[in-house]
Amino acid sequence: MGTCPYCGSVTYPGDVQCRKCDGALVSRPATLYTGPKKVSRTPQVAQDIRRQGLAVVIIGLLLKVYWGGCGPWPVVNDPTLLAVRKFAEPLLLCGGTMAYLTGWFVRIFG
Ligand SMILES: [Zn+2]
Repeated sequence: MGTCPYCGSVTYPGDVQCRKCDGALVSRPATLYTGPKKVSRTPQVAQDIRRQGLAVVIIGLLLKVYWGGCGPWPVVNDPTLLAVRKFAEPLLLCGGTMAYLTGWFVRIFG
């Protein structure tokens, strides 16, 4: 049995609040304000990497389909452009895939 520090009425063991004036009898640990919570940017960055990787893969696939002779249209046979396509197509497909996988690695391990 004790007395309430606010109103002086009787309190009982185990009370956390005065039964008469609702004053707190148990002191709560002070919480220190440490500024706004730091939110991890990693998932967002990883998602951006995956999106850009997918976009590059799609560009590579479009290149393959529309220029690679996979459609019912004539293929551009200019040797210079053909060399560009032969260089750009695997670069886009492999690079995009690597970027996409990198995005997942960042998501999982970052
Ligand atoms: Zn009280």
